[in-house]
Amino acid sequence: MGESNQAVFLGQINREAEEREAKQKAGKLGLGYVDLAKFPPDFDVLKLVSREIAQEGKLFPLKKVGEVLSLAVINPEAPSTLEALEKLKEKKYELQLFVCSNFGWEQAMSWYDSELMQKEIVRKKTELKEKSNQNLTSKLKDLSELEGKIANMQAESALGEIELAAISTKASDIHFQPVENGVTLRFRVDGILHNVLHLEKEVAHKIVTRIKYEAGVQSNIADVPQDGHLSFQVNERKIDLRVSTLPTPFGESIEMRVLDASRAIKTFTELGFSAGIQKKLTVALQDKNGLILVTGPTGSGKTTTLYSMLATLNNPEKKIVTLEDPIEYQLEGISQSQVNEDKKYNFETGLKSLLRHDPDVVLVGEVRTPETARLAAEAALTGHIVLSSLHTNSAVGVVSRLRNLGLENYNIAPTVNAVFAQRLVRKICPSCNEEVNLPQDDKFKKALDRLMQVFPDLKIPTKVKKAKGCEKCSDTGYMGRTAICEAFLLNDEVRKMILEQKSEIDILQFLKEQHQFLTLFEDGVLKVLQNETTLDELLRVTN
Ligand SMILES: [Zn+2]
Repeated sequence: MGESNQAVFLGQINREAEEREAKQKAGKLGLGYVDLAKFPPDFDVLKLVSREIAQEGKLFPLKKVGEVLSLAVINPEAPSTLEALEKLKEKKYELQLFVCSNFGWEQAMSWYDSELMQKEIVRKKTELKEKSNQNLTSKLKDLSELEGKIANMQAESALGEIELAAISTKASDIHFQPVENGVTLRFRVDGILHNVLHLEKEVAHKIVTRIKYEAGVQSNIADVPQDGHLSFQVNERKIDLRVSTLPTPFGESIEMRVLDASRAIKTFTELGFSAGIQKKLTVALQDKNGLILVTGPTGSGKTTTLYSMLATLNNPEKKIVTLEDPIEYQLEGISQSQVNEDKKYNFETGLKSLLRHDPDVVLVGEVRTPETARLAAEAALTGHIVLSSLHTNSAVGVVSRLRNLGLENYNIAPTVNAVFAQRLVRKICPSCNEEVNLPQDDKFKKALDRLMQVFPDLKIPTKVKKAKGCEKCSDTGYMGRTAICEAFLLNDEVRKMILEQKSEIDILQFLKEQHQFLTLFEDGVLKVLQNETTLDELLRVTN
């Protein structure tokens, strides 16, 4: 080992020891720990705390949610720190402290000198004038004209144009996908990827460099994946973009997820839940403790539903904490934290430390491991409402999934309060569509029979709709999405069946007979009858 290598190596060891020490200190004081060297700065928050106060108090501002200002401090008990904290409290902030190492703090302080700090970081305060009535196809067509314009713009303005375009098309993701002779810009809208425009190599390089710079990731590194985030303002709305970079054979690929809080929180009606499901949601959320689970494959809308549940539960008398991977939307009044495997802050360690904060409601992004399942069940039994998600195909599938995750029947039965399994189906385009006779499909006919048993007053139309395609819906025949759901609450009878090791099939049978339980497919058929979606779409999603 060369001399300089050895110095680097020793530096690394010292640094790890320093971080360990900071972590131990945090544990002793019952505070969180943060590795500041890895924490992307939030320049808006940085501006709230002057460099002088940060320097005096050896503290560093992390984020602000509502009136709660999170700070990293080296030593929470040092007199100079306490003095600085007092000054911040005078500004009416509620403070939340995390312990950091001296090294991390020194590194972070250099952000005060960064170029982004010197100039106004909320750079793009753009007005977006929506042309009403303009449909996605013509919006996307307009955007292809941007191609020439962007090529001659400064990187910052070019990025601004792309961001605006994404907002105006209501894109959920922005992709910069390298191809042989440049980069293809693509937007995901309603779950479907659309090519927007092509960027020549040099233009793309300029924009990608700008994105990495603003996202606080290392611009000179392109061969390992990096994560960061950046934000901008449109029509007084602050929009965050979560940025991930990924090396590919043609160059670096960038994916940006649009985190638009105004889009995130929807009512259960807006999400498309039927009256029957909403009733179950309301009952489930009134409990004082217990586990509420949302299940479905990736992309089935679980996170959005969990956020809507949190919004329903959110009031000043309740302490709500979350453990997410990643945090998709910042929610006011809720303490959110993000899993970070590098820092050994995973669902298990995170849940343990969150429970020390005496919350009423805990959101655990996902139950993936036996240890998380055990901890979530324990929390649910000891006076907390625990919301989480699981990957299962059906609602009753939760029982065997939890059994597979090592929970015993006597853990599951008293713990789980309610299970919601969901999918998203595309809604039929209101501008085009065809009427067709009721389908003769067997599965459909069976579902109809059952619906008529459950709802004797149900009016069955003679015709339903079929997708067609027009300019407004980009020839897909669909526009927007809505949820279909199957759900059950665990009453004494169901709990008893779980204790008796009854199978999923038995439980499902019982729910259907006694509790008018509708399957995902049956719930979807209701939506077909109401002309919200089509049988084709329903079969695509449920098969
Ligand atoms: Zn259409």
